[in-house]
Amino acid sequence: MKYLSTRDDSLSRSFNDILYQGLSRDGGLYLPQSWPKIDLLSLKNKSYEEVACEIIFPYVNENIEKLELQKILNETYANFNHEKIAPLVKLKNNKFLLELIYGPTYAFKDYALQFLGNLFSTSLEMSPKKITVLGATSGDTGSAAIHSFKSKKDINVFILHPHNKVSPIQQKQMTTVIDKNIFNIAIDGNFDDCQKIVKELFVDDEIQESTSLTAVNSINWARLIAQVVYYFWAYLQADTQKINFIVPSGNFGNIFSAFVAKQMGLPIGHLHIATNSNDILKSIVDTGEMKKKSVFQTYSPSMDIQVSSNFERQIFESLNRDSKRVNEVFESFSSKGFYQFDDSVLAKFQQIYKASSIDDNQTLETIKHVYEKYNYIADPHTATGLKVLLDKKDDEVWVSLVCAHPAKFDNAVNKAINKEIDIPKELSNLFDKEEKMTILPNSTMDVKNFILEKISNA
Ligand SMILES: *Cc1c(COP(=O)(O)O)cnc(C)c1O
Repeated sequence: MKYLSTRDDSLSRSFNDILYQGLSRDGGLYLPQSWPKIDLLSLKNKSYEEVACEIIFPYVNENIEKLELQKILNETYANFNHEKIAPLVKLKNNKFLLELIYGPTYAFKDYALQFLGNLFSTSLEMSPKKITVLGATSGDTGSAAIHSFKSKKDINVFILHPHNKVSPIQQKQMTTVIDKNIFNIAIDGNFDDCQKIVKELFVDDEIQESTSLTAVNSINWARLIAQVVYYFWAYLQADTQKINFIVPSGNFGNIFSAFVAKQMGLPIGHLHIATNSNDILKSIVDTGEMKKKSVFQTYSPSMDIQVSSNFERQIFESLNRDSKRVNEVFESFSSKGFYQFDDSVLAKFQQIYKASSIDDNQTLETIKHVYEKYNYIADPHTATGLKVLLDKKDDEVWVSLVCAHPAKFDNAVNKAINKEIDIPKELSNLFDKEEKMTILPNSTMDVKNFILEKISNA
């Protein structure tokens, strides 16, 4: 399998090239040149790790042997905390939850980032290369990345998070990892500011020449393919002909993985985007208008995003994989601050996607309702999806994703159900630990200098 970029469809890169490069030098995101098809029958009676191998192998076949890949996957999911790895739970009738909270940091990000860490280690074992992992986080990616890469040889990790805009447990999960190769940077700004700095550093020649800069946020293609697996896994557990998913969305990575599953042959009807009050994705899907909007802080901080990076991949797909047109969209968007997709493109979005925006009040009400009626405690991100799920008719199978453990967002959850929830010991222990982080202004130059200084000393 070779890879092109959303801004240059003539590109032809190997998996190993794009694994470390993250963002393409032309500013675009990588996608495979074609979609491999999966024979659903061949997945029957396989374990999660075996299903993962069938799905991921076609994307990496140029660089990794199948046996090697299987070994990496077995190691990756060995210490997840549930025998099914990602269990499907019935809420009622045709309404299901897919629980993705059994990794080391209690959010779905672990399913991809634990894999990425092992993938990097394996490939670095055989090379003299040292890499610098750089990522922006709205909370969960950062901790999942840090727990995946801590103490790994030849890897330094720089994670930017918006200062005081992640939950206390999310912050502690990152900053209490004090390994020498881990650097937490708190930016005086919001998540979109952090993401912008990261994007600018990836096209900065000086930093690119001093180190091998590697992206681990959800624009990284290897992360997306690891997430494709659990959509197939949900289908295998659901015993149905056709399946539909509701995905609480921020950067559009998780739901785009569902789109990839559909392209690979999973019989998905619709994908329903759930957002909080940061509703740019809803505007695009409802009206075709993509507009710069400011970011609100909500109870679901991992979705406090108004520039959903991975949506560029969907634009590329819906513009018939024509990178010239993608370039036009983003040139116009960055000069005018908005772009209006025409009706034919809008119709394409709507063929697959629906969208709802759930505000903070509805989020808390949903947490309360689901607790009282089903004795299930949902975190605020998950709750945006559950609101959509509860409103669905029962005539089709709908699966809503459980994105994080409620204890990670206990303030909001306690408020909703009016009692203190149990916190797993690994999380409550964090408050006794020493923290390590550096606060920097919202400036690409400052972050660049900090990184250059640290890696020259490392
Ligand atoms: C990352 C995250 C999301 C949003 O996922 P995207 O892939 O960015 O759309 C939602 N909920 C939680 C808990 C997350 O960590």
